[in-house]
Amino acid sequence: MKTKNIGINTICTHIGEVHDEQFKSAISPLFMATSYSYDGMDAKRYPRSFNSPNQEALSKKIAALEKCEAGMIFGSGMAAISHTLLALLKKGDHIVFPETLYGGTYNFIVKELSKFGIEYTFAKGFKREDFESAIKQNTKLIYTETPSNPLMKLTDLAMIAELAKKHKCLSMIDNTFASPINQTPADFGIDIIMHSATKYMGGHSDISAGAIASSQELIDKIWATSINLGGHLSDYTVWLLERSIKTMALRVQQQSRNAKKIAKWLENHPQVAKVYYPGLKSHPDYALAKKQMKGYGGMLSFELVKGLDAVGFMRKLKLVKYSMSLAGVESTILSPAETSHFLLTPEEREKQGISDGLLRFSIGIEEVKDIKADLVQAFSVIK
Ligand SMILES: *Cc1c(COP(=O)(O)O)cnc(C)c1O
Repeated sequence: MKTKNIGINTICTHIGEVHDEQFKSAISPLFMATSYSYDGMDAKRYPRSFNSPNQEALSKKIAALEKCEAGMIFGSGMAAISHTLLALLKKGDHIVFPETLYGGTYNFIVKELSKFGIEYTFAKGFKREDFESAIKQNTKLIYTETPSNPLMKLTDLAMIAELAKKHKCLSMIDNTFASPINQTPADFGIDIIMHSATKYMGGHSDISAGAIASSQELIDKIWATSINLGGHLSDYTVWLLERSIKTMALRVQQQSRNAKKIAKWLENHPQVAKVYYPGLKSHPDYALAKKQMKGYGGMLSFELVKGLDAVGFMRKLKLVKYSMSLAGVESTILSPAETSHFLLTPEEREKQGISDGLLRFSIGIEEVKDIKADLVQAFSVIK
């Protein structure tokens, strides 16, 4: 099936399946084999070569979702990031990273990349001049994350692609927060698109996986290093992930609709000081969000009025669970000051805009009225 003119739900459901010639089952059969005949085969199949039947099929679904030539699946989002960067960069090369990053990515950069003599600079903001002034003679890659965690700041994807072309380097985005349903960065010329498939692609808080999509040429390069690093995903989980992605558009569209309604409601709540959501007109990047996002996503953050106990509020919630991670069908909430940004000093947190009253909210697929009712009862008991 050609993917060019077919709709997103059809891609989710049908592209990248293993066809069962023997029994004609309606879904992909699962191949757990670690050994395949090499007689007359053009590819020597082996799970660590990322080419088992289930991996090969799901990679096609990832590529189609991101409108790219090729894709790969990994054991985690961090495996996708580490394998890609180690494949494309060498000693003496330089990367430009954004001002704020997912914590695991930040740790990989400062603890691991430096061991390999790969240099890096963090941009001082999210604008063109912030990224351009960080570019050096030896810059090989510009990396972005948009919307960013937890304050939902946006980076202009067309601007990043243009800068990368001008300075003859590659562009890469962590597209986890938006998911391919709300943002397809290849439309704007981004070279490499990465996902923590543990989040919206898996969507049920029960799968750890990662994915990348890019040109065939770059995927071939990443593949050549990845087979030596060994971060592939177990075929059983590949099969589960394919099943999960079939409903990704339905889930994410409901989560995005819910998030927009809840963001608007929170914005008018007397106990809320500020809401960070790219789909609100009050968001500083609202115009950019409209330009590069198809939906505004299921993630938002909000700050309680100074003096109110945000952690106490969170603990009073009954339907909404306070838990790490995000993007499941169930709504979850966390305090960045207590979790992802705990190791920073209060001054450092303040500088990054992470107050003790800030809560990061991952909106699920539940009915908005039920989520609101839970928030209302928690608001009514805090001081
Ligand atoms: C979770 C996450 C990652 C890391 O993914 P894992 O699957 O946990 O390894 C990377 N980037 C973002 C934005 C994430 O939310």
